[in-house]
Amino acid sequence: MTGYEIRIGLEIHVELATNTKIFCGCAVEFGAPPNSQCCPVCLGLPGSLPVLNRAAVEYAIRAALALNCTINLYSEFVRKNYFYPDLPKAFQITQDDKPLAVNGLLRYYLGDELMETQITRLHLEEEAGKSIHSGESIIGSEYTSVDYNRAGIPLAEIVTAPTMNSPAQARAFLEQLRLVLQYAGVSDCKMENGSLRCDANITVHPEPGMRVEKVEIKNLNSFRALERALAYEAERQVRVLERGGTVMPETRTWDERAQKTVRMRVKAGAPDYRYFPEPDLPPLELDAAWIEEIRSTLPELPLEKEARYQEAYGLSTYDTGVLVRAPQLAQVFEATVAQGRDPKFVANWVTGDYAHLARLGGTVSAEHFGQLLDMISSGAISAAQGKTVLQEMFARGVSPREFVAEMGFTVIADRDFLGKVIREVLTGHPELVERYCNGEDRLLGFFVGQVMKATNGRAEPRLVNKLLVEALAEGRNWQPRAE
Ligand code: ZN
Ligand code: MN
Repeated sequence: MTGYEIRIGLEIHVELATNTKIFCGCAVEFGAPPNSQCCPVCLGLPGSLPVLNRAAVEYAIRAALALNCTINLYSEFVRKNYFYPDLPKAFQITQDDKPLAVNGLLRYYLGDELMETQITRLHLEEEAGKSIHSGESIIGSEYTSVDYNRAGIPLAEIVTAPTMNSPAQARAFLEQLRLVLQYAGVSDCKMENGSLRCDANITVHPEPGMRVEKVEIKNLNSFRALERALAYEAERQVRVLERGGTVMPETRTWDERAQKTVRMRVKAGAPDYRYFPEPDLPPLELDAAWIEEIRSTLPELPLEKEARYQEAYGLSTYDTGVLVRAPQLAQVFEATVAQGRDPKFVANWVTGDYAHLARLGGTVSAEHFGQLLDMISSGAISAAQGKTVLQEMFARGVSPREFVAEMGFTVIADRDFLGKVIREVLTGHPELVERYCNGEDRLLGFFVGQVMKATNGRAEPRLVNKLLVEALAEGRNWQPRAE
């Protein structure tokens, strides 16, 4: 691949989280029985008229502001004409040369490097129905059914400049875009449900800036599919060029099963969509004060939050990354830290056991979680016991204090008892004791582990550590030497 410049641009469609469709009052609930959420307007029956949903405009403005776009106070709706079974009117109401927003910017990390990508435009349009192909995909399917529940769901279409230079960068961009839109609360962005969809275009230039034809890839339903499809396509184009061939301008689809891109259609010139102004909708004229009002309700966005966590709490980039990527975790972290607890201690628990259990389902309130952490940090229970308590809190919603009392959890801090356990552990491992005495300090961890195991995790770890060090310092007393 050396010597070639890759350029990637993305086109993302996001379903906005309104309660009803963009031009009618039909519900937009996902997973409803096919064709149960339709009316004359979204089915495009003759004589029906669209009425613009104010909430859809508000969500699109929120998305545009979160992406640092300039909002056009004047924009227009047009008809984009084409024939496809999922498009009931045989045209889509969209925006063309006068879009809602332009000239945005998204910053994101690719590894440790801060990148930025221009957002060319963001416009409002209506969703088409959903074609359901028999078999697994359009490739080789025998027939297709259409569900019009989706027709008329409000969409924001977001187009980037074609300036990304690797499949990994395109993925990092899309992950951050999704996070920003989730933070802004404009969409659930579930790629698996199709509420966030991405098409990519890619060119491979033998020399920087040399003009080549664009290939578009559709059907990228996951971050992994996006990255793999682009990597496959970049290699394919390089192979064509190396053979002295020419890359054809075409639209390809990602075949998930075969893990390769497949030609769908050749681009014989741009399709003629015969755009013309939508006669049934007036131009969209916005009040600047309303836009400022929406701007003032935007929350702190992921990159700002990440910087704040690092500065205010001294958290590692790993911890901040985990927290920021899961807003629910960030919320629990902040609420727990707000009551004066040590941020690093809280972050360890949130990104560790809490995150793991939350992934399996359920939540635990910050209040209960905070109580648990206090019991651990004060030494009332051990960390190992704390893990068990947290599991029960997730599984059964128990209060940590009641559960600990009920189970009779206590920490063993009895020096005599622990001394006995330690003696047993050390006499059980004479060779290791000898190695420790000869300078292998790291074996201490092993001995601590054995004592914790022998006490079912109930021993006070700091005390165990201290007693072990003391005991080993007088190692000769314990070592059963044959003298
Ligand atoms: Zn409808
Ligand atoms: Mn579109």
